[in-house]
Amino acid sequence: MCHHCIQHGGGGKWFLAAQNFAATLYRRRRKEAQKKAAKAEKKVGEVVGPHQKPPEYYMTEDGEFALSPGAQVDLDIMFSDLMREVLEATGKDVRKLPILKKKVNSFMANYHFGQVVTLEEAEEMVEITYPIGIMECICRRESRGMYNNDNAMTCLSLGVGIYKWERWPETFRGMTFLSVKEAKERLRHFDRRGNVHTLWTFYTPYIGGICNCEYPTCLGIRGRVDYDVNEILLKGEYCAMPIEERCIGCGECITFCQFGAMSLQVSRNKVNINMKKCFGCAQCAHHCRHEAIKMVERMTTPGLRDLW
Ligand code: SF4
Ligand code: SF4
Ligand code: SF4
Repeated sequence: MCHHCIQHGGGGKWFLAAQNFAATLYRRRRKEAQKKAAKAEKKVGEVVGPHQKPPEYYMTEDGEFALSPGAQVDLDIMFSDLMREVLEATGKDVRKLPILKKKVNSFMANYHFGQVVTLEEAEEMVEITYPIGIMECICRRESRGMYNNDNAMTCLSLGVGIYKWERWPETFRGMTFLSVKEAKERLRHFDRRGNVHTLWTFYTPYIGGICNCEYPTCLGIRGRVDYDVNEILLKGEYCAMPIEERCIGCGECITFCQFGAMSLQVSRNKVNINMKKCFGCAQCAHHCRHEAIKMVERMTTPGLRDLW
């Protein structure tokens, strides 16, 4: 169990707790963020002078990303602004980057982070939420220009938050509603294709989507793997472990690992898994035709229980 299970899971996996998909939580989210921000009111005054308009969001002295009291900002706008700030600082003032990284980590943890889940877990998630829809992937659009492209229809949207995408069809090609059966079929299709399933919060702990991603098109995977923004994408509940006596060293599983955690021990003709790098997506296990990889629980595996 990760720290979100402890905080939001009621003793179990937090992403299988129905309250984290609830409409009431979605509606409450902005009020709670503003309440939290109100506590930091004094600090806003310290950030800007008394006659200046306070920023809608800012970074506190202890490195937390926070909203200003009464801010009416949208999550999408905050995210784009933050990314713009990072891009502007990149290459111009590298001294700013460690501070910005802290800010991005804090923003992600509080508002919009991802976590790897297995196909089986994703299927359980779509059983406990309503409505379900599918829409075009923003990462593929931003990072690879994939727009109006059926291969980029990969984001399963969950819960009441998705009605806004239905209302704005010009953005992300709108959204198509799915039944639970259809959602499971899509998830299995993405799994066969080699996509990693990741849940996403929209004001933590409200879970608003299950994405189906790959490196390097996914900005979440890139943020974590290439730039060490650890809070952008957490590892899953499991880790892959090879069953050596069954492995024939064909190397097929390695092509499905989006996290660079696998290699071939050529002298032994056996696969090698760096379990510290493993995110627990189970892609390797699902694609091994010899059932030579098992998934073990992170929490009960020595050396891995604190690596999320
Ligand atoms: S997280 Fe994955 S599916 Fe979601 S927008 Fe990014 S790449 Fe697309
Ligand atoms: S674990 Fe399976 S897919 Fe991977 S190298 Fe061994 S036999 Fe091949
Ligand atoms: S080793 Fe297997 S379970 Fe781990 S990240 Fe790679 S494909 Fe996923």
